[in-house]
Amino acid sequence: MNVVWRKEWINEYESPWSVFEKLALVNLTDRNEILKVLGSTHVKNIKHHIGDNQRELLQLNGFNVERLHQTLDFNLQEHNNKIIHSLITPFSELYSSWEHWFHPDLHWCSQCMEGGFHSWLHQFRLFDECVFHDLKLNHVCPGCRSAIPFLLSNRQLKHAFQCKCGHAFSNFHVSSWNEWRSPDQMNPDVLRWLQANQASMMTSNMQSKWIIHAEHCNLKRLVKESPEAIKVFHSDDSLHRGDYFSNRFQKELLRVISGTVQRVVERLFQDSLQNHQHCITQLMELRKSNEAIEFPEICPFAYAYVFWRKSILKEEHFYGYNSLRTTLISDAEPLIIRDLLEYFSDQVFSYQMKILQRLDARILFWILEKLVMQFSENFFCTWLEIAGKRSKEISVPSWQEIEKMRDQSFPSVAFKYNFDESSSSSSIEYYHLSKNESILNKFECPYQHESAKADIQSMISYMPQKVAMLIMNNPSDENKMLQKTVETYVKKLNF
Ligand SMILES: [Zn+2]
Ligand SMILES: [Zn+2]
Ligand SMILES: [Zn+2]
Repeated sequence: MNVVWRKEWINEYESPWSVFEKLALVNLTDRNEILKVLGSTHVKNIKHHIGDNQRELLQLNGFNVERLHQTLDFNLQEHNNKIIHSLITPFSELYSSWEHWFHPDLHWCSQCMEGGFHSWLHQFRLFDECVFHDLKLNHVCPGCRSAIPFLLSNRQLKHAFQCKCGHAFSNFHVSSWNEWRSPDQMNPDVLRWLQANQASMMTSNMQSKWIIHAEHCNLKRLVKESPEAIKVFHSDDSLHRGDYFSNRFQKELLRVISGTVQRVVERLFQDSLQNHQHCITQLMELRKSNEAIEFPEICPFAYAYVFWRKSILKEEHFYGYNSLRTTLISDAEPLIIRDLLEYFSDQVFSYQMKILQRLDARILFWILEKLVMQFSENFFCTWLEIAGKRSKEISVPSWQEIEKMRDQSFPSVAFKYNFDESSSSSSIEYYHLSKNESILNKFECPYQHESAKADIQSMISYMPQKVAMLIMNNPSDENKMLQKTVETYVKKLNF
């Protein structure tokens, strides 16, 4: 086959996806044909169905790499490796395989696509906007809402740059090659970040690492900001590998996390909840004026606090605790973000093992405190957002909805861990995207007038255990009625 191609058609940071679309366009061919011509011996011997792992674009496993190099007059594999490394090296060893870092479906920028350009930086999970145009990326066809697999495959595509449904991502014809262009300029912050990665790849001893969670890291925005905090740790008597897994250390970890939640509670009572202590007592102690009437209206701030606390600590009931104190004492009361914290801990731990062969617990605790603090505050605001409506309805979200609220509240963060070998000190940079919207003034508390505090003080607490005792002593109709009211009320507010 005589292939029409010029190596100038391949741009910096371009992904093989648009390279092959261009190849298909100018040669009036499709993706299966390309794979047949440029495929490995193994692929050529496949008679019928060529599977997806021969079509993948990260390693180009299904290709005869030499043939591909000759045909394109360009080493596409090396080009791929270089870009992928500069994107993922800063997170060294976070995932064992490349696939984790890139979306399995095509993500693209409509403006870049107009020039026939698709980039690895669109496909990379940590960017949700085009780093050239700041536009939100597409991940489904605007015509039929289908996802396009990031593969060399005809499955969801018709002609070059065209979806099966007929929607054209770009209006090209066979001789459009002179309309192809790469975007002019990359976002300067991202460019700086990329260049720094490339530079540190040159030096053999990698001494910094980014610690992140792919779902909670808007990298493009995070690298723009300067760190919110930087903390330097000088070397210290640190712990051994086995200590990390010991019960003693895990208890210490729990103590640190628990202490941080308690600090958030204290901060909430100093600021937003200052005037709602009595409202919280009323709800947490199930107080009302007498056994015959309904429970009084719930103050939205009390609602937010009580259910924030129940969900964050995974407490069994919302009532009956000391409103000002929280303790996570055992595995029986795990924090709602325990999995995420373990995920971050493990990264810190494995990096420290790599560079120090020891564990510096101070660094780990500092990072976890930041995460718990920020999450807890965000999560409180998320509860507050629904508190107005829900407190009037006397209802709570389902556990599934609460998990969604949790994911939404986990902050977009990144920690850059720098290790200086000569002084054997570490500095940790903390990056965090703040939301900065105050919703505290949106709600009104029904108990702010002078007499309200005294009223609540004089109310009687009707906790389920106490009501059960009442019935044991006197199984009257009134008491049974009371028990029913309490049970219904508690049930409505249970999750
Ligand atoms: Zn773009
Ligand atoms: Zn479509
Ligand atoms: Zn209140």
